[in-house]
Amino acid sequence: MSRFFTSRYRHLTPYQPGEQPCFNSFLKLNTNESPFPPTPQVQEAAREAAGKLHLYSDPECTALRQALATTYRLSPRQLLCGNGSDELLYLAFLAFCGETCPAVFPDITYGFYSVFAEMTRVPFRTVPLLPDFSVDLFHEDLDQGTIFLANPNAPTGLWIPPEQLRAFLERHSRQLVVVDEAYIDFAGESALGLLEQHANLLVIQTFSKSRSLAGGRLGFCAAHPDIIADLNTLRNSLNPYNVNRMTMAAGIASLSDPVSFSRNCQRICQIREACRHALEKLGFTVTASKANFLFASHPAVSGKKLYQQLKAQGILVRHFDQPRISSYIRITIGTQPQMDRLLDALETILLTRKESL
Ligand code: PMP
Repeated sequence: MSRFFTSRYRHLTPYQPGEQPCFNSFLKLNTNESPFPPTPQVQEAAREAAGKLHLYSDPECTALRQALATTYRLSPRQLLCGNGSDELLYLAFLAFCGETCPAVFPDITYGFYSVFAEMTRVPFRTVPLLPDFSVDLFHEDLDQGTIFLANPNAPTGLWIPPEQLRAFLERHSRQLVVVDEAYIDFAGESALGLLEQHANLLVIQTFSKSRSLAGGRLGFCAAHPDIIADLNTLRNSLNPYNVNRMTMAAGIASLSDPVSFSRNCQRICQIREACRHALEKLGFTVTASKANFLFASHPAVSGKKLYQQLKAQGILVRHFDQPRISSYIRITIGTQPQMDRLLDALETILLTRKESL
């Protein structure tokens, strides 16, 4: 730390992203990326847009917002695009939380929420997940402040269906509820359909997972136009050209090909279910994840050991050294051959352990 670093941030613990090795040929099952590259059409759209990189990008993302509006049957006025959904989450913390309006979220959820709360210097409260890892939607600590719910939740993968979400929005109609749907395309119906009746809802989605564009950094959010206007006030005070030209073009091309999109989502879900079954056969406990990852623990080997021993075999998964979930590993769903390699490696780890007993 330099002597110039402001005292305001000296104690800030930044978010720890999963490892992104640049030179090793690890099998990466640790950051929930898609194993499928963008389609040739998406790649071509980005290449074509590169020819105009000498010009700033459209600060309103007009064409992309129009394409999103058509895809999700919304008005462009209800939409805002971001440099990944992380940026939109950050703007939401800035815009809708403060001294008298704390941020509230489950104790086990996406790690960035507490970092953003600290970064924006807003108070926050966490609500403990129930013993089965589901969100306690009736917890009294949810009765005040701006609520952040990842749905499906990370890293558990558990999903709150729209009926329960609708009732929750009604019970909390005086508070803003931010629903982070990073993994929704692998789960079920989006909360986007609830926007018309619930002016207290802000839905955030990403192109990073189901649309194979993690490296492009593209997210969007949808809400009542007044909420979008607030977020725009802050975005325009920070980075009006927040989405670059190539990403914008790639996003539009992705939206114009719903067939490849849904085929990829289906493939991931099928592989997820087959892998869940195989893990259970090996003795793992696996949560009912509806995301593009599985969250699993084994009674005989700790989460940390599993992580380390998989890494020694060239496979990266994610381990969180955190109370209640330290026995688990989070495994991103890859292609079937990649999952077969993971399962073989786990089998070897379990066998070696048995033999050494
Ligand atoms: N929300 C959740 C729950 C996530 O797991 C992630 C991915 N790390 C994000 C948001 C952010 O995704 P991105 O910034 O790539 O859109």
